[in-house]
Amino acid sequence: MITYKLLTPGPLTTTETVKKEMLVDHCTWDDDYKQITQSIRKTLLKLAHVSPEEYTAVLMQGSGTFGVESVLTSAVSAQDKLLIIANGAYGQRMAEIAHRAGLSHQLYNCSYDETPDSNKIAEILAVDPAITHVSMVHCETTSGILNDIAAVAKVVKAAGKTYIVDAMSSFGGIDIPVADLGIDFLISSANKCVQGVPGFSFIIAKKEALASCEGKARSLSLDLYDQWKAMEKDGKWRFTSPTHVVLAFAKALEELEAEGGIRAREQRYRSNNKMLIQELTRLGFHTYIDSTHQSPIITSFCFPEHHNFSFEEMYAYVKDRGYAIYPGKVTDADTFRIGNIGEIYIDDIEKLCKIFAGYMEDK
Ligand SMILES: *Cc1c(COP(=O)(O)O)cnc(C)c1O
Repeated sequence: MITYKLLTPGPLTTTETVKKEMLVDHCTWDDDYKQITQSIRKTLLKLAHVSPEEYTAVLMQGSGTFGVESVLTSAVSAQDKLLIIANGAYGQRMAEIAHRAGLSHQLYNCSYDETPDSNKIAEILAVDPAITHVSMVHCETTSGILNDIAAVAKVVKAAGKTYIVDAMSSFGGIDIPVADLGIDFLISSANKCVQGVPGFSFIIAKKEALASCEGKARSLSLDLYDQWKAMEKDGKWRFTSPTHVVLAFAKALEELEAEGGIRAREQRYRSNNKMLIQELTRLGFHTYIDSTHQSPIITSFCFPEHHNFSFEEMYAYVKDRGYAIYPGKVTDADTFRIGNIGEIYIDDIEKLCKIFAGYMEDK
Protein backbone atom coordinates (compact mmCIF):
# COMPACT_ATOMS: atom_id res chain seq x y z
CA MET A 1 0.00 0.00 0.00
CA ILE A 2 1.34 3.43 -0.95
CA THR A 3 1.14 5.79 1.98
CA TYR A 4 1.38 9.53 1.88
CA LYS A 5 0.17 12.45 3.96
CA LEU A 6 -2.71 14.54 2.71
CA LEU A 7 -2.16 18.23 2.17
CA THR A 8 -5.78 18.60 1.15
CA PRO A 9 -8.64 20.31 2.96
CA GLY A 10 -10.39 17.10 3.95
CA PRO A 11 -10.37 14.23 4.10
CA LEU A 12 -7.10 15.01 5.78
CA THR A 13 -4.36 13.17 7.61
CA THR A 14 -5.63 11.94 10.99
CA THR A 15 -3.75 10.48 13.95
CA GLU A 16 -3.18 6.74 14.40
CA THR A 17 -5.25 6.92 17.59
CA VAL A 18 -8.25 8.44 15.77
CA LYS A 19 -8.01 5.72 13.10
CA LYS A 20 -7.72 2.99 15.77
CA GLU A 21 -11.10 3.95 17.28
CA MET A 22 -12.70 2.59 14.12
CA LEU A 23 -11.65 -1.00 14.88
CA VAL A 24 -14.73 -1.41 17.06
CA ASP A 25 -18.16 -2.31 15.67
CA HIS A 26 -20.45 -0.38 17.96
CA CYS A 27 -24.14 -1.00 18.50
CA THR A 28 -26.37 2.05 18.03
CA TRP A 29 -29.25 1.23 20.40
CA ASP A 30 -26.91 1.06 23.31
CA ASP A 31 -26.89 3.73 26.01
CA ASP A 32 -23.08 4.00 25.74
CA TYR A 33 -23.36 4.94 22.10
CA LYS A 34 -26.13 7.46 22.63
CA GLN A 35 -24.03 8.99 25.40
CA ILE A 36 -21.14 9.40 22.97
CA THR A 37 -23.43 11.27 20.58
CA GLN A 38 -24.71 13.51 23.37
CA SER A 39 -21.22 14.23 24.60
CA ILE A 40 -20.08 15.17 21.06
CA ARG A 41 -23.02 17.57 20.77
CA LYS A 42 -22.15 19.18 24.10
CA THR A 43 -18.49 19.58 23.19
CA LEU A 44 -19.39 21.18 19.85
CA LEU A 45 -21.42 23.84 21.67
CA LYS A 46 -18.44 24.64 23.86
CA LEU A 47 -16.14 24.93 20.85
CA ALA A 48 -18.65 27.31 19.25
CA HIS A 49 -18.82 29.50 22.38
CA VAL A 50 -22.59 29.13 22.70
CA SER A 51 -24.84 28.16 25.62
CA PRO A 52 -27.04 25.04 25.57
CA GLU A 53 -29.96 27.29 26.52
CA GLU A 54 -29.70 29.28 23.31
CA TYR A 55 -28.09 26.82 20.86
CA THR A 56 -28.07 23.14 19.97
CA ALA A 57 -25.82 20.90 17.87
CA VAL A 58 -27.30 18.42 15.41
CA LEU A 59 -25.28 15.72 13.64
CA MET A 60 -26.32 14.77 10.10
CA GLN A 61 -25.24 11.71 8.08
CA GLY A 62 -23.33 12.35 4.86
CA SER A 63 -20.56 14.67 3.74
CA GLY A 64 -20.45 18.42 4.36
CA THR A 65 -22.68 19.24 1.42
CA PHE A 66 -25.47 17.15 2.99
CA GLY A 67 -25.27 19.45 6.01
CA VAL A 68 -25.50 22.58 3.86
CA GLU A 69 -28.38 21.12 1.86
CA SER A 70 -30.10 20.08 5.09
CA VAL A 71 -29.97 23.62 6.49
CA LEU A 72 -31.02 25.41 3.30
CA THR A 73 -33.90 23.04 2.52
CA SER A 74 -35.10 22.90 6.14
CA ALA A 75 -34.85 26.60 6.99
CA VAL A 76 -35.96 28.42 3.84
CA SER A 77 -39.72 27.94 3.43
CA ALA A 78 -41.93 28.67 0.42
CA GLN A 79 -42.63 32.13 1.89
CA ASP A 80 -38.93 32.93 2.38
CA LYS A 81 -36.17 34.24 0.15
CA LEU A 82 -32.49 33.44 0.47
CA LEU A 83 -29.60 35.75 -0.41
CA ILE A 84 -26.54 33.66 -1.26
CA ILE A 85 -23.16 35.38 -1.14
CA ALA A 86 -20.61 33.55 -3.28
CA ASN A 87 -16.94 34.02 -4.08
CA GLY A 88 -16.04 30.44 -4.89
CA ALA A 89 -17.31 26.97 -5.75
CA TYR A 90 -18.84 26.31 -2.33
CA GLY A 91 -20.92 29.50 -2.45
CA GLN A 92 -21.96 28.50 -5.97
CA ARG A 93 -22.93 25.08 -4.65
CA MET A 94 -25.41 26.72 -2.25
CA ALA A 95 -27.02 28.37 -5.29
CA GLU A 96 -27.19 24.97 -7.00
CA ILE A 97 -28.86 23.48 -3.91
CA ALA A 98 -31.37 26.36 -3.79
CA HIS A 99 -32.04 25.99 -7.51
CA ARG A 100 -32.64 22.22 -7.32
CA ALA A 101 -34.91 22.56 -4.29
CA GLY A 102 -36.85 25.38 -5.92
CA LEU A 103 -36.04 27.85 -3.14
CA SER A 104 -36.64 31.50 -3.89
CA HIS A 105 -33.13 32.94 -3.91
CA GLN A 106 -30.80 35.64 -5.17
CA LEU A 107 -27.09 35.22 -5.82
CA TYR A 108 -24.59 37.94 -4.96
CA ASN A 109 -21.59 36.85 -6.95
CA CYS A 110 -18.15 38.24 -6.08
CA SER A 111 -14.80 37.78 -7.70
CA TYR A 112 -12.95 34.69 -6.38
CA ASP A 113 -10.01 36.74 -5.16
CA GLU A 114 -12.07 39.33 -3.28
CA THR A 115 -14.04 39.14 -0.05
CA PRO A 116 -17.73 40.11 -0.20
CA ASP A 117 -18.42 43.73 0.69
CA SER A 118 -20.75 44.08 3.68
CA ASN A 119 -21.90 47.55 2.56
CA LYS A 120 -23.06 46.06 -0.72
CA ILE A 121 -24.91 43.34 1.22
CA ALA A 122 -26.59 45.96 3.41
CA GLU A 123 -27.72 47.69 0.21
CA ILE A 124 -29.15 44.50 -1.29
CA LEU A 125 -31.07 43.83 1.95
CA ALA A 126 -32.40 47.40 2.01
CA VAL A 127 -33.59 47.20 -1.60
CA ASP A 128 -35.29 43.80 -1.29
CA PRO A 129 -37.30 43.35 1.93
CA ALA A 130 -38.49 39.94 0.70
CA ILE A 131 -35.10 38.47 1.66
CA THR A 132 -35.39 36.54 4.94
CA HIS A 133 -32.17 34.50 5.02
CA VAL A 134 -28.53 35.20 4.11
CA SER A 135 -25.93 32.48 3.57
CA MET A 136 -22.19 32.61 2.98
CA VAL A 137 -18.97 30.61 3.26
CA HIS A 138 -16.34 31.45 5.90
CA CYS A 139 -13.15 29.99 4.47
CA GLU A 140 -13.75 29.53 0.72
CA THR A 141 -11.73 26.37 0.24
CA THR A 142 -11.86 26.96 -3.52
CA SER A 143 -9.18 29.64 -3.26
CA GLY A 144 -8.25 29.70 0.44
CA ILE A 145 -9.72 33.17 0.95
CA LEU A 146 -11.04 33.95 4.44
CA ASN A 147 -14.31 35.89 4.26
CA ASP A 148 -15.24 38.43 6.92
CA ILE A 149 -18.25 36.73 8.55
CA ALA A 150 -18.24 39.27 11.39
CA ALA A 151 -18.69 42.30 9.12
CA VAL A 152 -21.49 40.55 7.26
CA ALA A 153 -23.07 39.39 10.55
CA LYS A 154 -23.42 43.02 11.57
CA VAL A 155 -25.49 44.03 8.56
CA VAL A 156 -27.49 40.79 8.43
CA LYS A 157 -28.41 40.99 12.10
CA ALA A 158 -29.13 44.73 11.90
CA ALA A 159 -31.62 43.90 9.14
CA GLY A 160 -33.14 41.13 11.27
CA LYS A 161 -32.39 38.28 8.84
CA THR A 162 -31.49 34.64 9.52
CA TYR A 163 -27.74 34.11 9.08
CA ILE A 164 -26.34 30.83 7.71
CA VAL A 165 -22.58 30.22 7.62
CA ASP A 166 -20.74 27.36 5.91
CA ALA A 167 -17.74 27.11 8.21
CA MET A 168 -16.84 23.69 6.86
CA SER A 169 -13.12 24.18 6.47
CA SER A 170 -12.62 26.66 9.34
CA PHE A 171 -14.56 25.41 12.40
CA GLY A 172 -12.09 23.82 14.83
CA GLY A 173 -9.14 25.51 13.13
CA ILE A 174 -10.22 29.13 13.55
CA ASP A 175 -11.99 30.32 16.67
CA ILE A 176 -15.54 31.48 15.84
CA PRO A 177 -17.65 33.27 18.49
CA VAL A 178 -20.94 31.93 17.08
CA ALA A 179 -23.28 33.51 19.67
CA ASP A 180 -21.54 36.88 19.62
CA LEU A 181 -21.90 37.00 15.85
CA GLY A 182 -25.55 35.98 16.09
CA ILE A 183 -25.10 33.13 13.58
CA ASP A 184 -28.34 31.14 13.33
CA PHE A 185 -26.96 28.08 11.53
CA LEU A 186 -23.28 27.14 11.28
CA ILE A 187 -22.32 24.06 9.29
CA SER A 188 -19.12 22.01 9.43
CA SER A 189 -18.13 18.37 9.02
CA ALA A 190 -16.26 15.55 10.72
CA ASN A 191 -13.32 15.43 8.34
CA LYS A 192 -12.00 18.98 8.42
CA CYS A 193 -10.34 20.93 11.24
CA VAL A 194 -11.64 18.75 14.09
CA GLN A 195 -9.52 16.11 12.32
CA GLY A 196 -11.95 13.21 12.19
CA VAL A 197 -12.75 11.01 9.21
CA PRO A 198 -15.52 11.60 6.62
CA GLY A 199 -19.08 10.46 7.26
CA PHE A 200 -21.19 13.17 8.87
CA SER A 201 -21.70 16.90 9.07
CA PHE A 202 -22.81 18.90 12.07
CA ILE A 203 -24.89 22.01 12.51
CA ILE A 204 -24.69 24.48 15.38
CA ALA A 205 -28.15 26.05 15.37
CA LYS A 206 -29.89 28.73 17.34
CA LYS A 207 -32.80 26.85 18.93
CA GLU A 208 -35.30 29.56 18.11
CA ALA A 209 -34.33 29.49 14.41
CA LEU A 210 -34.36 25.69 14.33
CA ALA A 211 -37.73 25.45 16.08
CA SER A 212 -39.23 27.56 13.32
CA CYS A 213 -38.18 24.93 10.74
CA GLU A 214 -40.84 22.45 11.84
CA GLY A 215 -42.61 20.96 8.84
CA LYS A 216 -40.69 23.03 6.27
CA ALA A 217 -38.14 20.52 4.97
CA ARG A 218 -38.33 19.40 1.34
CA SER A 219 -36.50 16.17 2.11
CA LEU A 220 -37.14 13.39 4.62
CA SER A 221 -33.57 12.29 5.32
CA LEU A 222 -32.19 15.85 5.42
CA ASP A 223 -34.94 17.27 7.64
CA LEU A 224 -32.86 19.13 10.22
CA TYR A 225 -35.79 19.76 12.55
CA ASP A 226 -36.79 16.09 12.69
CA GLN A 227 -33.17 15.03 13.14
CA TRP A 228 -32.90 17.44 16.08
CA LYS A 229 -36.12 16.27 17.71
CA ALA A 230 -35.04 12.62 17.49
CA MET A 231 -31.49 13.27 18.68
CA GLU A 232 -32.62 15.58 21.47
CA LYS A 233 -34.62 12.78 23.16
CA ASP A 234 -31.71 10.57 24.09
CA GLY A 235 -28.92 10.87 21.53
CA LYS A 236 -30.39 8.40 19.04
CA TRP A 237 -29.80 9.18 15.37
CA ARG A 238 -32.95 8.96 13.20
CA PHE A 239 -31.48 6.50 10.70
CA THR A 240 -28.34 4.35 10.71
CA SER A 241 -25.48 6.44 11.98
CA PRO A 242 -21.86 6.16 10.81
CA THR A 243 -20.79 4.44 14.04
CA HIS A 244 -17.08 4.09 13.27
CA VAL A 245 -16.89 7.72 12.19
CA VAL A 246 -18.67 8.85 15.35
CA LEU A 247 -16.22 6.98 17.58
CA ALA A 248 -13.29 8.45 15.65
CA PHE A 249 -14.80 11.93 15.95
CA ALA A 250 -15.21 11.62 19.74
CA LYS A 251 -11.51 10.75 19.92
CA ALA A 252 -10.61 13.64 17.60
CA LEU A 253 -12.44 16.05 19.93
CA GLU A 254 -10.43 14.73 22.89
CA GLU A 255 -7.24 15.26 20.93
CA LEU A 256 -8.28 18.80 19.99
CA GLU A 257 -8.67 19.57 23.66
CA ALA A 258 -5.35 17.90 24.51
CA GLU A 259 -3.64 20.08 21.90
CA GLY A 260 -4.88 23.14 23.81
CA GLY A 261 -8.18 23.75 22.03
CA ILE A 262 -8.98 25.70 18.90
CA ARG A 263 -6.58 28.55 19.63
CA ALA A 264 -3.59 26.20 19.89
CA ARG A 265 -4.62 24.36 16.76
CA GLU A 266 -5.08 27.63 14.92
CA GLN A 267 -1.55 28.59 15.98
CA ARG A 268 -0.14 25.36 14.53
CA TYR A 269 -2.05 25.86 11.28
CA ARG A 270 -0.87 29.47 11.07
CA SER A 271 2.77 28.47 11.56
CA ASN A 272 2.43 25.76 8.91
CA ASN A 273 0.81 28.22 6.52
CA LYS A 274 3.34 30.97 7.12
CA MET A 275 6.31 28.73 6.44
CA LEU A 276 4.64 27.20 3.40
CA ILE A 277 4.02 30.58 1.78
CA GLN A 278 7.45 31.92 2.73
CA GLU A 279 9.32 28.97 1.27
CA LEU A 280 7.28 28.56 -1.90
CA THR A 281 7.49 32.30 -2.56
CA ARG A 282 11.28 31.97 -2.35
CA LEU A 283 11.07 29.27 -5.02
CA GLY A 284 9.19 31.63 -7.33
CA PHE A 285 5.55 30.70 -6.70
CA HIS A 286 3.10 33.40 -5.74
CA THR A 287 -0.21 33.16 -3.93
CA TYR A 288 -3.53 33.77 -5.67
CA ILE A 289 -5.03 35.52 -2.61
CA ASP A 290 -3.30 38.56 -1.12
CA SER A 291 -1.87 38.13 2.37
CA THR A 292 -4.57 40.16 4.19
CA HIS A 293 -7.32 37.73 3.11
CA GLN A 294 -5.32 34.50 3.02
CA SER A 295 -6.71 31.85 5.40
CA PRO A 296 -4.38 29.73 7.56
CA ILE A 297 -6.14 26.62 6.15
CA ILE A 298 -5.34 26.19 2.46
CA THR A 299 -3.38 28.24 -0.08
CA SER A 300 -3.76 28.60 -3.85
CA PHE A 301 -0.49 29.09 -5.70
CA CYS A 302 -0.32 30.31 -9.27
CA PHE A 303 1.62 28.20 -11.75
CA PRO A 304 5.16 29.57 -12.21
CA GLU A 305 6.05 31.31 -15.46
CA HIS A 306 8.13 28.30 -16.65
CA HIS A 307 6.83 27.27 -20.03
CA ASN A 308 7.52 23.63 -19.21
CA PHE A 309 5.68 23.59 -15.86
CA SER A 310 3.23 20.70 -15.52
CA PHE A 311 1.03 20.26 -12.45
CA GLU A 312 0.57 16.54 -13.14
CA GLU A 313 4.31 15.97 -13.24
CA MET A 314 4.88 18.00 -10.07
CA TYR A 315 1.98 16.25 -8.32
CA ALA A 316 3.49 12.83 -9.11
CA TYR A 317 6.97 13.97 -8.00
CA VAL A 318 5.64 15.23 -4.66
CA LYS A 319 3.37 12.23 -4.10
CA ASP A 320 6.28 9.79 -4.73
CA ARG A 321 8.03 11.57 -1.88
CA GLY A 322 5.16 11.23 0.60
CA TYR A 323 2.70 14.09 0.19
CA ALA A 324 -0.53 14.52 -1.80
CA ILE A 325 -1.30 18.09 -2.85
CA TYR A 326 -4.46 19.36 -4.49
CA PRO A 327 -5.36 20.71 -7.96
CA GLY A 328 -6.63 24.29 -8.29
CA LYS A 329 -10.27 25.20 -8.74
CA VAL A 330 -10.39 28.91 -9.65
CA THR A 331 -11.65 29.86 -13.09
CA ASP A 332 -9.48 32.84 -14.01
CA ALA A 333 -5.99 31.57 -13.19
CA ASP A 334 -3.93 28.36 -13.33
CA THR A 335 -3.42 27.36 -9.73
CA PHE A 336 -2.78 24.43 -7.45
CA ARG A 337 -3.64 24.23 -3.76
CA ILE A 338 -1.85 23.07 -0.65
CA GLY A 339 -3.75 22.47 2.55
CA ASN A 340 -1.89 22.64 5.85
CA ILE A 341 -4.56 21.30 8.20
CA GLY A 342 -4.84 17.84 9.77
CA GLU A 343 -2.06 15.94 11.50
CA ILE A 344 0.54 18.12 9.78
CA TYR A 345 3.40 19.84 11.57
CA ILE A 346 6.13 22.30 10.71
CA ASP A 347 8.50 19.34 9.98
CA ASP A 348 6.12 18.21 7.25
CA ILE A 349 6.05 21.67 5.72
CA GLU A 350 9.86 21.83 5.83
CA LYS A 351 10.09 18.45 4.12
CA LEU A 352 7.51 19.44 1.53
CA CYS A 353 9.30 22.67 0.69
CA LYS A 354 12.57 20.73 0.21
CA ILE A 355 10.74 18.41 -2.18
CA PHE A 356 9.46 21.41 -4.10
CA ALA A 357 12.96 22.91 -4.18
CA GLY A 358 14.27 19.60 -5.57
CA TYR A 359 11.63 19.58 -8.23
CA MET A 360 12.26 23.18 -9.28
CA GLU A 361 16.02 22.53 -9.43
CA ASP A 362 15.45 19.66 -11.86
CA LYS A 363 13.47 22.01 -14.08
C1 LIG B 1 -15.38 20.64 2.24
C2 LIG B 1 -16.31 21.75 2.09
C3 LIG B 1 -17.70 21.54 1.90
C4 LIG B 1 -18.33 20.18 1.83
O1 LIG B 1 -17.82 19.36 0.89
P1 LIG B 1 -18.14 17.81 0.92
O2 LIG B 1 -17.30 17.29 -0.21
O3 LIG B 1 -19.57 17.62 0.72
O4 LIG B 1 -17.69 17.30 2.27
C5 LIG B 1 -18.51 22.65 1.85
N1 LIG B 1 -18.03 23.89 1.95
C6 LIG B 1 -16.72 24.14 2.13
C7 LIG B 1 -16.26 25.54 2.26
C8 LIG B 1 -15.81 23.07 2.19
O5 LIG B 1 -14.51 23.31 2.38
